Amino acid sequence: MAEKPRVRFAPSPTGYLHIGSLRTALYNFLYAKKTGGDYFLRVEDTDQKRLVADAVEKLVESLEWAGVENGEGIVLDEKGSIRQKGEFGPYMQSERLELYQKYAHELVKKGKAYYCFCTPERLDSLRAVQEKAKLAPAYDKLCLKTYSREEAEQKIKAGEKYVIRFDVPETGEISFEDAVRGKIFFSNKNLDDFVLLKSDGFPTYHLAHVVDDHFMETTLVFRGEEWLPSTPKHILLFEAFGWKPPQYAHLCVILNKNTRKKLSKRDGDVSVEDFKKKGYLPEAVVNFIALLGWNPKTEQEIFSLDEMSAAFDLEKLNKAGAIFDQEKLDWMNGYYIRQKDDGELAKLCRPYLKKYNNSLSDEHLKKIIQVEKERMKKLSDIAEGTQFYFDTPKPDADLLKWKSMGSEDLEKSLNKSREILDAISEENWELEDIKNKLMASADPKDRGALLWPLRVALTGEKKSPSPWEVAWVVGKNESMERIEQAIASLKN
Ligand code: GLU
Repeated sequence: MAEKPRVRFAPSPTGYLHIGSLRTALYNFLYAKKTGGDYFLRVEDTDQKRLVADAVEKLVESLEWAGVENGEGIVLDEKGSIRQKGEFGPYMQSERLELYQKYAHELVKKGKAYYCFCTPERLDSLRAVQEKAKLAPAYDKLCLKTYSREEAEQKIKAGEKYVIRFDVPETGEISFEDAVRGKIFFSNKNLDDFVLLKSDGFPTYHLAHVVDDHFMETTLVFRGEEWLPSTPKHILLFEAFGWKPPQYAHLCVILNKNTRKKLSKRDGDVSVEDFKKKGYLPEAVVNFIALLGWNPKTEQEIFSLDEMSAAFDLEKLNKAGAIFDQEKLDWMNGYYIRQKDDGELAKLCRPYLKKYNNSLSDEHLKKIIQVEKERMKKLSDIAEGTQFYFDTPKPDADLLKWKSMGSEDLEKSLNKSREILDAISEENWELEDIKNKLMASADPKDRGALLWPLRVALTGEKKSPSPWEVAWVVGKNESMERIEQAIASLKN
């Protein structure tokens, strides 16, 4: 029977979820969905120096927000507390320390690893000598050559501090088939005798994830290209244990569009949280990042999660770096914003309008959204240049004038608008009606003569939606007041 596909997302809890890590999680999710396999979340928290409070909760929240949810591993309960789900747990590496210790010692017994007692000072001076001789830094196997296993065990009994190092063969080569990059070869002589177990009893990433991927029955590993140089170490470890390694798919880097360097925190917003805060919708973020490194080879650009998983294919993952194109993300987000109904959008936009929240009715907000939706790229745009929906403007006298219009004509124009609008009853204050009445009265050869002063009277802005849209949103009373006020301002 073929083995069940099992994939994992295995982040270190550093406090936020990088957009590139969301892509890794997403590909795991899509692959599991497509193949009917399992996708689990494991937290790699063995680097005690880098632990950040609440990091795991935040990470899972970001994944949930994106809809990239795992059925197994670390999850959050309704109260937002961490829970573990599934039969391969614990899924938190810090709860598996004994297992790693057991297997590190087992490799020593098998003669594949050894105890090392070198002090940090000795390692520093070794590195300095190697650097001077222009050699790559590497441990020189001193402890392996100096002590027999019995001697080493005596030292440990006597309380000496030690680490366990893997004994990398000095010759030979290692190869593996990467799902994205094809066959890859590495020479053993370029690999260092890396540490498996540190002196505080914690495993290194190399040991911990190999042990876990074996016992959690991982069949395929999606991870960033930065892990590629470490993969031969992992293959050596699998071989030393006599375990079958998973398949690997090393995903391309995501590049800053201008610098063509790896997108990093220095470039500004790179965490899923940042995008969420700015008003990007999860559908857009997920659709956008899915296509950074995966080319479904169709004209289609808009994909739901279901469509993505149906089209997902390891063969279509790209090696070359993918450029993060902010304009494309904005375009996609605008598309998804327009797919939402006004009521839902109103709810999503409200947090961006905090300063008006007390007075802003749902009805008023829905109207604003109906008008603004077309131009919105982010939810936060609802608060950009939209002041006039909430506060009465004070239009500039010159701005009120259309082209070379004189003061008299301006007054006439505003009076005419007042008449037209006043004739519409409050019950009939409907967008189409207001528009039709104004358009019917405007001179077809020079519509601006009527519409420009009215629009400026209503908004105070050089650019804004049409006067009928603004009039409709702010209502009849407020519109009439704004026009009166503009007329009155001419007399001062
Ligand atoms: N903990 C590693 C990271 O945060 C995981 C690498 C892997 O998937 O093997 O990148």
